Amino acid sequence: MEPSEFKELKKQLSSTRKNGYDKISAADVDAMETYCGGYKAFLDIGKTERLCVNETIRLAEERGYRPFVRGMELHTGDKVYHCNRGKSVLLARIGTAPLSAGAQITAAHIDSPRLDLKPNPLYEEAELAYFKTHYYGGIRKYQWVTIPLELRGVIALKDGTVISVNIGGEEGDPRLVITDLLPHLSAEQNKKPLSEAVPAESLNLLLGSRPIGDEEDSGRVKLAVLKLLHDKYGITEDDFISAELEAVPAVKACDIGLDRSMIGAYGQDDRVCAYAALKALLDLDKDPVKTAVCVLADKEEIGSDGVTGMQSAAFDTFMEDLCEAQGVAVRECLEHSFCLSADVTAAYDPNFGEVYEKRNAAFVNYGIGLCKYTGSRGKSGASDANAETVAYARKLFDDADVIWQMAELGKVDAGGGGTVAVYMANRNITTLDAGVPVLSMHAPFETVSKLDCYETYKGMKAVYLADF
Ligand code: MN
Ligand code: MN
Repeated sequence: MEPSEFKELKKQLSSTRKNGYDKISAADVDAMETYCGGYKAFLDIGKTERLCVNETIRLAEERGYRPFVRGMELHTGDKVYHCNRGKSVLLARIGTAPLSAGAQITAAHIDSPRLDLKPNPLYEEAELAYFKTHYYGGIRKYQWVTIPLELRGVIALKDGTVISVNIGGEEGDPRLVITDLLPHLSAEQNKKPLSEAVPAESLNLLLGSRPIGDEEDSGRVKLAVLKLLHDKYGITEDDFISAELEAVPAVKACDIGLDRSMIGAYGQDDRVCAYAALKALLDLDKDPVKTAVCVLADKEEIGSDGVTGMQSAAFDTFMEDLCEAQGVAVRECLEHSFCLSADVTAAYDPNFGEVYEKRNAAFVNYGIGLCKYTGSRGKSGASDANAETVAYARKLFDDADVIWQMAELGKVDAGGGGTVAVYMANRNITTLDAGVPVLSMHAPFETVSKLDCYETYKGMKAVYLADF
C-alpha cells in the first residue's frame, strides 16, 4: 500500500474524535462567552435548589412563561411552568404536533452536595458556638474543612410563614467555617484513610465566640448567637426543627486558567446542565414541533426519592395535565417521547489518570458527553440506552453542529454513579444520558470547560427542536 493510500484510508475509516477547539466556529466562541456570563450569574444566585427554582421562575416569566393551571387550554406556542413545592420546577412550550406524538424532554437536577443543619443544631463547647451538620449527597468530607461557608435556606414557622435565611451570601457578610487539625498535632489523623480522617460528626460549623451576660452564667456564647438570630429573623431555638438550612461554599463563580477557558464554582453538578436545559428552552426562537419539556429536579444526589425528586409522581401529574388539555392519553405521549437525562460526567483528570479508561473517558473541551449507560460494576443501576437511541442522538447533534463525545465515568469496577435516566426510562420514555464533563466533581469547587457548557446548551436546543 502506498503511504498516501494508507493516509487516505485512515482518514476515511478512523474515529473523527478531536478537540472541540479544532471544530468550533469563531461566532460560537463569541456566543460561548456571553452564554457563560449568564451561567456564572445563575450559579451565584442559585446556591440551593430553592434559589435555583426562584431564579428559574424569574427568568421564565421574563420570557412569557406563566404558571400552569389544571384545566387551562393549551395551544401551540403556549409557555407554562409548574413549581413543585418550591424545590423543583417543570416547564413546557407546547409544540405544533399534538402530545400524542410525544414530547422532547430534558431532565437535570438542581440539588448539589452540601452540609445540611441537623434539626437540633446549635450547641456550645469550650465557649465556642457551633451548628451540627448532616451531609447531603456524596461528599469527600476532608474537602469541606477550612473553607469559607455561607448558610442558605428557609425556616418554616407554625403559622405558615417561611423565613428566608442568608448568612454569608452578601458582600461584607460574616462567613462560617469548619476547622481542621494543625499539622503539628495530626500524627494520628495522618495515618487514617481519607474517608475516615474527617468524621461526619466533626463537620461542625463555627458560629461565634463572644459571650454575653456575666462571668457566672453558662451557655453565654450560644445565647449570644440565639439573640443575633432572633434579632435578625425573629426565631427561637425550637424553630430550627422545621428548617432547611444548607451550608454551601461562600465562593463566587469565576474563570479558571490564564486563557479563561474554564469555569470554577460550587454546585456545577448539575446546575451546569440545568442552566443549559433552561436557557435553551427560553431561547427557542420558534415553536417546537413536539412539545418541549424541561424538568429541573431535586433530590438526585440522594437517590431521586421524595416528593420533589425525579421518582415523584409530580412529573407524571404534570404530563398528564398537559395531555388532558389535548385529550391525549399520557401513556401514548410518554411512549413516543425522548428524554435527555442531562447530568454531568467525569472529565479525564491527568493527575489521577489511573482511575480512568482513556479510550472511553470524557475529555475537557471535547463537547457534551453522551453516556449510553452509567451505573456501577456490571452496569448495575443503569438504564443502558439501546443502540438506536444513541444513533438518534448522534444524528440529532450532528445535524445541529453540536460538538459531542462518547463517555464512560471511569474504569470498570473503579466506582460508579447514577442519574435520573433510569427513572425516566422506567416510565416508558426513550432516554439517554448526556452532560458536561467535570473536574473534581462533588468538591466544594468544581471545574468545567466553557466550550463544553456551550455545546451542552446547543445540544439541549437540538433536543427541543427535533422533528423526528
Ligand atoms: Mn448530577
Ligand atoms: Mn452528583
